[in-house]
Amino acid sequence: MKIQEYIDIEEQYGAHNYHPLDVVISRGEGVWVYDVDGRKYLDCLSAYSAVNQGHVHPKILAALVEQAGKITLTSRAFRNDQLPLFYKELSEISGYEMSLPMNSGAEAVETALKIARKWAYQVKQIPRYQAEIITCAGNFHGRTISTISFSTEPLYRDDFGPFTPGFVSVPYGNADAIEKAINGNTAAVLLEPIQGEGGVIIPPKGFMKEVAEICKKNNVLLIADEIQTGLGRTGKLFAAQHEGVRPDVTVIGKALGGGFYPVSAVLSDKKILGLFTPGEHGSTFGGNPLAAAIARAALKVIVEEHLVERAAESGEYFIEQLSEIPSPHVKEVRGKGLLIGVELNEKAGGARRFCEALQTRGILAKETHERVIRFAPPLVIDKETIDWALPLIREVLNLQ
Ligand SMILES: *Cc1c(COP(=O)(O)O)cnc(C)c1O
Repeated sequence: MKIQEYIDIEEQYGAHNYHPLDVVISRGEGVWVYDVDGRKYLDCLSAYSAVNQGHVHPKILAALVEQAGKITLTSRAFRNDQLPLFYKELSEISGYEMSLPMNSGAEAVETALKIARKWAYQVKQIPRYQAEIITCAGNFHGRTISTISFSTEPLYRDDFGPFTPGFVSVPYGNADAIEKAINGNTAAVLLEPIQGEGGVIIPPKGFMKEVAEICKKNNVLLIADEIQTGLGRTGKLFAAQHEGVRPDVTVIGKALGGGFYPVSAVLSDKKILGLFTPGEHGSTFGGNPLAAAIARAALKVIVEEHLVERAAESGEYFIEQLSEIPSPHVKEVRGKGLLIGVELNEKAGGARRFCEALQTRGILAKETHERVIRFAPPLVIDKETIDWALPLIREVLNLQ
């Protein structure tokens, strides 16, 4: 079939809730993907950081194949032999006492919100159903009704109300605003250490640390959504660690499934996650043996292949080299590790056309918001590949 035929069928039969680049991928390996005509592209999106380990990582593939031939789904009505080991290994690598497995990131965020509310009523003794959770403008926490209820992006919200109450919004990166928004009914602060979907927005230095101190002082839970920033992407296992912060609750997803399978989890300690009792929360697929086996392999690859350290190193180099590209269109290059945003000037005419120009040169990147090109390749990228991409990016950033 021709590329255009795939596109036509997709447009006819699928809901148009995405605006993809017109590349039809049929294969991937490491940092590379191949379209149906065999053309090769460098993947600079990594499925929104879900493929940190690289496409079709052989060790994760082997774990998937092996487990798929044994048992894939038991439901949590019964126990399975993979979940306990997943719990233990995740706890050892993350430093949290416990976790709760879900599937998508949005579900894990919802789970974190539920446990924060329960903690508010059971432990903090906030009057029933008065709990408030503080969120930040420009956030992205998923697409469920509740997570869009505190989105500040009209595109994500308009026409989808009525919204879930109990959320307060403050500007991102402003610890004073968070402190001012706290009252006796505040259960938690939910934020991303770096806003990925918001345009790779890095808060002022010290922000996370200050927020953590404010939360502690006021007996408010700090919930970090590290679904995109976690598992090595920013050059630390968790982005909060750049400021030595250990949030009360950390939410992970995306790369936890190594790009093979949706796996997410809420990480916390017994005094919080231990509040859930049987029947209060669940998921048919959450914690299934296939997911657990894949996630175990995905975590093992991150550790064994030193992906955290490699992201820090390659990221520093990539950011430095991008910053040196002379271009009339670039307003700012910013990033941490391999989560990099190139913000364009207003006059540049939007990031989309630059992404399309990159595509024709064999680089896949996606605009985030109107004016930011995100460069977030798999963490296994090497210097040689970055050096291959740089002149092409330079050419594109200098298009009329
Ligand atoms: C992708 C993402 C989510 C949502 O994850 P899904 O698996 O798409 O539901 C939530 N928070 C952040 C920060 C994300 O990047």
